[in-house]
Amino acid sequence: MYKDFPSLSPENEKELVEKLSHWALANGLVMYPPQWQLHSASNAPITMFPTPFPRDLFENAMKVQTVFNELYANVVSHEKVWLVDLIKSLAKFDKDFTGKLYETYVKAVEQSGGTLPQPLSLGVFRSDYMYNQTDHSVKQIEFNTVSISFGGLSTKVGKAQNYLNDSGAYDDNYSLKYYPSDDIPVSESIAKIADGLAAGNYFYNDENDNKKTVVLFVVQPGERNCFDQRLVEYALLEKHGIKSYRSTLEEIKEKTTINSGKLYIKATMDEVSVVYYRSGYAPSDYSMDPEKTWDARLHLELSKAIKCPSLLTQLSGSKKIQQVLTDPEIVKAFLKDSSPEEIDLLLSTFVKIHPLDDTEAGKKAKRLAFDEPQKFVLKPQREGGGNNVYKEDIPGHLKSLDESEWGAYVLMELIHPPTHKNKLIKEGQIYHEDIVSELGIFGTIVFNEETGEIKSNENAGFLLRSKFSSSDEGGVAAGFGCVDSVYLY
Ligand code: ADP
Ligand code: MG
Repeated sequence: MYKDFPSLSPENEKELVEKLSHWALANGLVMYPPQWQLHSASNAPITMFPTPFPRDLFENAMKVQTVFNELYANVVSHEKVWLVDLIKSLAKFDKDFTGKLYETYVKAVEQSGGTLPQPLSLGVFRSDYMYNQTDHSVKQIEFNTVSISFGGLSTKVGKAQNYLNDSGAYDDNYSLKYYPSDDIPVSESIAKIADGLAAGNYFYNDENDNKKTVVLFVVQPGERNCFDQRLVEYALLEKHGIKSYRSTLEEIKEKTTINSGKLYIKATMDEVSVVYYRSGYAPSDYSMDPEKTWDARLHLELSKAIKCPSLLTQLSGSKKIQQVLTDPEIVKAFLKDSSPEEIDLLLSTFVKIHPLDDTEAGKKAKRLAFDEPQKFVLKPQREGGGNNVYKEDIPGHLKSLDESEWGAYVLMELIHPPTHKNKLIKEGQIYHEDIVSELGIFGTIVFNEETGEIKSNENAGFLLRSKFSSSDEGGVAAGFGCVDSVYLY
């Protein structure tokens, strides 16, 4: 069993909030507020205390990450034809986004004469889970292959909570440590994601630690979560001596140029080894200037820089692919080099995900969606929160569409996480409410999309995000949730 959250007198809680707010501002556990000015940031929404999470399941999720990395790398390389076929059929349902990503991929292949100029690919992935209390397991919510965030703030929130614990702020009477330090680990995600980018740089340079080539961060204009990204940039420079630049998709053509296939920053003629996307995952990233932004995407794909992720790797993160991969036979066929134990562990994280197409399984799922909607969440092919339809809203939503459009969705069994009455601090306000938590595990992998060779494959730390159990969605930047850390029991 686990200890309850610390119970503090009003004076001690007030002091804790002051300590936490100062720590956050002093150490970069921050975001820009909605109406931001360059010079002033505010505390990121965080929990006051770490939230309990079962240690054995946390360890399983950490252990299985490199197997997931490999699964998706294999889908993109060894199973490329299978993947491209699936994406092609998916593109028909979602012309404006999946369709455009696919079309840009096809164009890039055509314009480079059948083979893309850079076979190496970098994945910075995050597998998201919830603790399913009913059968004491961790279950996967989704596998993210593009623009995963909070690797920066996750390390910081773990350190902040350790500081509070070490400084006695969690003990109401004696200023003792409330939690044994081993029970509240700090995520190494800042360092590990930077290591992943450095690995991309190393393999770009034929296995040389070249510090002259740089990493290009492709970011959203006016990004409020830019400190999360900056923390990784600082680690990349401090630990590896590798510089980075930032550009929005809109600015790519002004700021970069391709010479003999190589990508350069125009202003300095620094050669780019890795293009790291922290944008480009949602339709809104292209909607301001579709022509320019899609053209920028094509331009980058046609360069020799390693993409994190390539268009195809991004597409492998589609919810539809996740659904197809819940089939154990397919997983076994795609993970030929993994042990039965690794495969079993991976499979144990799946809940049922059904297609809603014309196959037998699809027809069955269509009946389920109307007969037992309370067991499911309906998901379209979109990233970034706010797109899902839950439970009783599913039948009405489906009825509002033509049945031919249902194939764009997958129907996923709901996971049942426990709630915890932690305290959240958001914009100076304290909330004492039931929360549910989502565990994210980061991973990085460098692989060859042509040969399937895996050059490096690492676990890259973890993230806990929590939100009011009354809200269905968990996006932190989108304003629903907050950054948390684990108390392992
Ligand atoms: P997105 O790509 O928008 O992040 P997700 O698949 O992560 O989509 O779903 C968004 C949120 O919906 C999750 O953070 C989680 O809170 C909730 N959710 C998604 N799938 C499930 C599920 N199977 N059971 C319970 N909650 C879910
Ligand atoms: Mg998600």
